[in-house]
Amino acid sequence: MLTQNMGYPRIGGHRELKKANEQYWAGKISQDELTAVARTIKEANWQTQLDAGIDLIPCNDFSYYDQTLDTSLLLGVVPQRYQPVSAIAGNTGLDLYFAMARGYQKNGLDITAMEMTKWLDTNYHYIVPEFTAQQAFRISNDNIFNEYNSAKAILGEKAKPVLIGPVSYLLLGKEKEAGFDRIDLVQRLVPVYVEIINRLQQQGATWIQLDEPCLALDLSHKEKEAFAWAYHTIAAQVSGIKLQVATYFEALLDNTQLAVNLPIAALHIDLVRAPQQLDEVLALIPDKLELSLGVVDGRNVWKNDYEQSLAHIDKAVEQLGACRVLIAPSCSLLHSPIDLDGETAIDPEIRNWMAFAKQKLHEVTELKLIAQGDHTLLQANLQAIASRRTSQKVHKQAVKDRVAAITAADGQRKSAFPIRQRLQRERFHLPSFPTTTIGSFPQTDDIRQLRARLKKGDLTVEQYDAAIEQATIESIRWQEQLGLDVLVHGEFERNDMVEYFGEQLDGFLFTKNGWVQSYGSRCVKPPVIYGDISRPKDMTVRWSQFAAAQTNKPMKGMLTGPVTILQWSFVRDDQPRELTTNQIALAIRDEVVALEQAGIGIIQIDEAAIREGLPLRKAKRPHYLDWAVNAFRVTASGVEDQTQIHTHMCYSEFNDIIEHIAAMDADVITIETSRSQMELLQAFAHFEYPNEIGPGVYDIHSPRVPTTEEMTALLAKAADLLPAQHLWVNPDCGLKTRKWPETKAALENMVAAARQARKQLKVGDPV
Ligand code: GLN
Ligand code: ZN
Repeated sequence: MLTQNMGYPRIGGHRELKKANEQYWAGKISQDELTAVARTIKEANWQTQLDAGIDLIPCNDFSYYDQTLDTSLLLGVVPQRYQPVSAIAGNTGLDLYFAMARGYQKNGLDITAMEMTKWLDTNYHYIVPEFTAQQAFRISNDNIFNEYNSAKAILGEKAKPVLIGPVSYLLLGKEKEAGFDRIDLVQRLVPVYVEIINRLQQQGATWIQLDEPCLALDLSHKEKEAFAWAYHTIAAQVSGIKLQVATYFEALLDNTQLAVNLPIAALHIDLVRAPQQLDEVLALIPDKLELSLGVVDGRNVWKNDYEQSLAHIDKAVEQLGACRVLIAPSCSLLHSPIDLDGETAIDPEIRNWMAFAKQKLHEVTELKLIAQGDHTLLQANLQAIASRRTSQKVHKQAVKDRVAAITAADGQRKSAFPIRQRLQRERFHLPSFPTTTIGSFPQTDDIRQLRARLKKGDLTVEQYDAAIEQATIESIRWQEQLGLDVLVHGEFERNDMVEYFGEQLDGFLFTKNGWVQSYGSRCVKPPVIYGDISRPKDMTVRWSQFAAAQTNKPMKGMLTGPVTILQWSFVRDDQPRELTTNQIALAIRDEVVALEQAGIGIIQIDEAAIREGLPLRKAKRPHYLDWAVNAFRVTASGVEDQTQIHTHMCYSEFNDIIEHIAAMDADVITIETSRSQMELLQAFAHFEYPNEIGPGVYDIHSPRVPTTEEMTALLAKAADLLPAQHLWVNPDCGLKTRKWPETKAALENMVAAARQARKQLKVGDPV
């Protein structure tokens, strides 16, 4: 029985890679200094895995920015527009690489970056390969071969090169011109994979891991055929090296037959996400195929339940024999924080339930030893799992009872939208095309420093609060002068829209160094939800009330919704996500009601992440959308008809989920539409979306100040598609990443655009 790892975090234990990359981009360190940092991280990672006793250790899993982009450069998939970058004297391969990742604005060139999107259902973003109809592929650099050599020097036979498989590489990319299907490129691509694999074999590699996560997705007939063709073609032309195909994040389901019959040495399956697929795979597995059991969760922070994993291992060993079984994490450990050892501030009882990447390696090797009969290792794990199952720190009966008692009525506003709309209009007397913003104003260095100084103890809480109050007052004065209709307090007191709430809710904990890569040098440190969630006291009332008292204009209260809080945290694995979400929903519902009681008449509940929670397999989506929408409704429905509930989403591809967005029944929804020139409003128009809507009229992702005319034109476009009396005027998203000068200029123009729209566009009587 072998143990293996599928990939290891590459940011470094103290985010060394982030820092080195950013210094290199700023021209502060040389390329040699950057590559030296990278080498240190790689070698330390290999040593850690060696010390943990892993038998097959990944190499080529390191990346300066993203492994999909590495693959594009390996295969020569470089869009035409980057040619001038390589032509510049002094530029190296790394400069081209970063130009593709981040765009290039130097030497008189201005070239946009490649598109970035989420890696399947994770919060990791990859650089989307761009293909043309005539796309050619050829080995274009030696990185993977050099990586293998360096790994081999330390790991010997244990070094296992990892590469994205050819079919997933194509499927995760995009056609950049019409008239062809990227999957047809497989015939040109596979010969290059053959060449790569043969070179690695000649260098001494005994295994290669080809990641094919798309094999666990819904596939067309043609895509299935591409898988079979690709692997039969590769297998026929390589020898002396074992091919392993790795799947993760979902079950193989209807692709099981296809997957187990690929001519490969081993197949890796994710038994954390999809434990039931073990039986399905074992029922169809042919003689000889080795099976890698992904039993240790690569995407969460909890200690493995050894009993449960051993049940899987024993079952597989019984049928296949130990020599055809490998034990592994469910997927690359890229998605988990690196090392729990330094987290001394976490309550020791809770810390004993947790495992980060380094600890997970040890779990993999311990599982092997236990499966081979060493039961002494089992005891401590059984105790930890049992303590978590029963701990009072996790389980709060009152919270469970309250969630169990949620009824349909809890998700129902008192009256239907038209009645609420009339009552709200009578209450707020807003003009047509009312103007507002999405919540945050620029988080300047001054504001961030306040928090740092408070943390260090250089400021007292009173001094900190006074400074935040001052910033809030200034922003309110300024919003009044500008003539905005519905004001916000500015969110100056918040570091992050999830962390701010997590810190005040029971059931959450925070790590010191639990960073995971989000994209490039960007890392996030998600909160950990470990127990039943409750709200010991008001969270935002103080700030909203303070702000409301400064003005006669309506002040919008600002909350983060339950699905977004769930989605951007490490969550419990001992109960369904939907149950955890409902606990958060009740806590936020109480905050909504508290705001209402404090006199706040307009409350926005941000659900930035509803769409990214969509399951990978279509068949699972309706169930998810049902509970996600219902959680929002529970959050929003504790208030009177006169209280106006807003929601906000930072995207706008709503075509496939519009009925569910409508079912959220927010009085007003604000979305991101400016970059698509309102095109994405079509879904709302087509559906005849019944409630009010604020399509973003300007892109907050760039410092560019849009003109009044531009925004008036966008409003006219929106008024063509939707009833003008339902339209609000606002930016695409919060302004926290912007600077004040551009923010002021842009909002001034936005208010002017709304005034013009009121004059120029016909607004029917409110319905
Ligand atoms: N209210 C939040 C803000 O303005 C919303 C942020 C978001 O949608 N990502 O910052
Ligand atoms: Zn947003």
